Amino acid sequence: MIHKAFGYWIEEAGPQPEFPVLEGEQELDVIVVGGGFTGLWTAFHLKSGDPGLEVGLIESHRIGHGPSGRNGGFVDAMWVSFASLVKRYGSEAALRLARMAEASVREVGEFCEAHEVDAWYRHSGYLNVSTAPAQDGSWEGNLKAMREAGIIDGPRELTPTEVQEICASPAFRAGVHYGAAATVQPARLAFGIREACRGLGVRLFEGSPVTKVEDRPGSVTVTTPYGRARAAKAVLSNGPTLASQGSPLSGAITLASSHMVITEPVPEVIEELGWTGGEAISDCRALLTYFRTTPDGRIAFGWGGGRIAAGARRFGRAELDADVINGVITGLRRYFPMLEKRELDYAWGGPIDASPTHLPHVVALPSGRAFAAFGYTGNGVGPSQMVGRTLASLVLELDDEYRSLPFIESAEALTRVPPEPFRWVGGAMIREAIGRKEEAELTGRSVDPVSAAVARIPQLIGFHIGR
Ligand SMILES: Cc1cc2nc3c(=O)[nH]c(=O)nc-3n(C[C@H](O)[C@H](O)[C@H](O)COP(=O)(O)OP(=O)(O)OC[C@H]3O[C@@H](n4cnc5c(N)ncnc54)[C@H](O)[C@@H]3O)c2cc1C
Repeated sequence: MIHKAFGYWIEEAGPQPEFPVLEGEQELDVIVVGGGFTGLWTAFHLKSGDPGLEVGLIESHRIGHGPSGRNGGFVDAMWVSFASLVKRYGSEAALRLARMAEASVREVGEFCEAHEVDAWYRHSGYLNVSTAPAQDGSWEGNLKAMREAGIIDGPRELTPTEVQEICASPAFRAGVHYGAAATVQPARLAFGIREACRGLGVRLFEGSPVTKVEDRPGSVTVTTPYGRARAAKAVLSNGPTLASQGSPLSGAITLASSHMVITEPVPEVIEELGWTGGEAISDCRALLTYFRTTPDGRIAFGWGGGRIAAGARRFGRAELDADVINGVITGLRRYFPMLEKRELDYAWGGPIDASPTHLPHVVALPSGRAFAAFGYTGNGVGPSQMVGRTLASLVLELDDEYRSLPFIESAEALTRVPPEPFRWVGGAMIREAIGRKEEAELTGRSVDPVSAAVARIPQLIGFHIGR
C-alpha cells in the first residue's frame, strides 16, 4: 500500500500542467487566495459573470492538490444537516439554503457535461446507515425538521432489508436514503474547473503561499515570498489554513482531519454486495465513516476520526497518520469482512476545516472588500459550487438569490471555539472520548462513564459534531 499525502485520486488523474509563481508587482481586479473547490468555483463564476475582470487565483502549492483533490468525492446537498440549518437560520431561510445546495449538486453535473470534464459524476444518492444499536434512528430529528418544514419529496427511511438490497454488508442495520447526492473523482473535477478557469482567462499562480493580507482603503494587497498582488477585492478561500493562529477567522474553525484508503479493483465483491447503484454511503457515527465505489470496481473508504491539528498546523498528521489509517482499515474490514485478504492500493489524508455549527459560513470582512468562506466540516464538494457562486455575487455586487443566502454572516456573528492551547487540548480529549464510546458501541461493549460524559461536552456547549 502506498501511503502518501496526495493519495489516489490525484495520481489517477495523471500528470498536471504547472503554473507560474507569482512574482513582482501584479495589478488585478480580484484576488482569489487558494486553489481548492471554493477558490476555483469563485474564480470560474467571477469570470463567467464579468469576462472583463482580471481575476488572479493564488495557490500556495499546486491547484487541486489540497483536500479538494483528495476527498471521498461525495457530492452532497445539505439535507442531512437540515435540523442544524433550521436551528441557526429558521425554517424559511434553511429551506432556501437547502434547496440551493440541492441545485448545486445538479449544477456540478451540468458543469461537467457542458465543459466535457470526465469527473465520473454519478447522481447515485446518499445512504446514511446505522451500524450499531446506538445509531438506530439517529436521523429522526433531521427528518422531523424536514417534515415540519413541509418537505414531502424528502429522504426515504429504509428497513434493514431495504438497506441490504442496496448494499449487503453484514454490519448494516436500518438507514435513510437521500436522493439529492452524487459521487465524483474529486481531483478530476478540481482539474476540470481549473481548466475551465484557464479557458476563461483567469490568471493562475502556483507555489505562491500568501503570507500577508493587507485590507486598506481602496484595495487589498497580498504578499507572497516572491511578489505582491493588489486588487480592489479579494476572496480568502484557503480552507483549513484560515484556522491558523493570526487569521481573523481562527477562532471560528478547528483543524481536524480525515483519512482514506482505496482497495485494488474488487468488482466481484461489489457485485456480491449488490452495491451496483454507485450509492455514496456513510454510517451515523460522530466520527463518520464513509465509502463509495469507483467505475473500475474499487471501494474507497474513509474515516473522519483523524487528529485535531495543534495550532492548526498542517503538513503533519492531518495528512499522514499511520495510526489513523489502521483505524480506517479496521473500519473497512468490519463493514466488509470479505475484503480481509484483498490489497489496499493507497492510503492518504487531509485537513478538515470544522466549524462549531458544522455548517459552512461566508463572511464579509468589515471593509467590504474581502470575503472568506470556510467551515464545510467534511461536506464541501457539493456546497462549494454554491459558495463560490455566492462569493462571486458578493464581489460583483449582484442583486441575486445568492446574496440573500443566510450563511452570509459577519465575523462577529460566528460561533467561536476556545483559543489555543485549549482548542487543541479540549478537541483532542473529546475526539478520544467519542472514539472510545463509538468503538464500544460498535463492538457491543458498554461505554465507560468517563468517555460517555466527555463525549457529551460538545452537545452541552452547543457545538455540533457529526452529520
Ligand atoms: C480525506 C478527506 C475526505 C473528504 N471527503 C469529503 C467528501 O466525500 N465530500 C465532501 O463534500 N467533502 C469531503 N471532504 C471535505 C472537502 O474536501 C472540503 O470541504 C473541500 O475540499 C473544501 O474546499 P476548499 O476549497 O474550501 O478548501 P481546500 O480544498 O483546502 O483548498 C484550499 C486551498 O488553499 C491553499 N492554501 C492554503 N493556504 C494558502 C495560502 N496561505 N496561500 C495560498 N493558498 C493557500 C491550499 O493549498 C488549498 O489548495 C473531505 C476532506 C478530506 C481531507
